[in-house]
Amino acid sequence: MTKYPIKDEEGHEFEKSNLVTQKSRDGLYDIYSCIHCGLKGKRHGLSNFIHAREKKCTNKTLLPPAPPPKFVKTIVGSVCSVGLVLNEVYEVLPAPEEYTHLDGVWVLSELRGTKVRLLPTEYVKVE
Ligand SMILES: [Zn+2]
Repeated sequence: MTKYPIKDEEGHEFEKSNLVTQKSRDGLYDIYSCIHCGLKGKRHGLSNFIHAREKKCTNKTLLPPAPPPKFVKTIVGSVCSVGLVLNEVYEVLPAPEEYTHLDGVWVLSELRGTKVRLLPTEYVKVE
């Protein structure tokens, strides 16, 4: 048996799966199961840990995202609509603070004199 925290950012995240608290010789416990891989375990009383068998979780949702590229090359003609040139290499700039949650990258459009966003389908990474 292994002790797991109820919520592990990079592993199991357990949620209660029984309706009625169970009783054993060791006292009361609840059955918890991992929302990612289904691993079942017991939580005794209000303990902060789940006891379950050793198992690696399939939880990959919180792996750190790949760092943004430094340079990108435009690959579709739609970039012309924001003042960029097709098949041109652009330096990637930091996203404006209010748009950091968006995907894609930001580059300088000289024609517009401002930063514009390229969608993930509009560029390839350049080394
Ligand atoms: Zn899991």
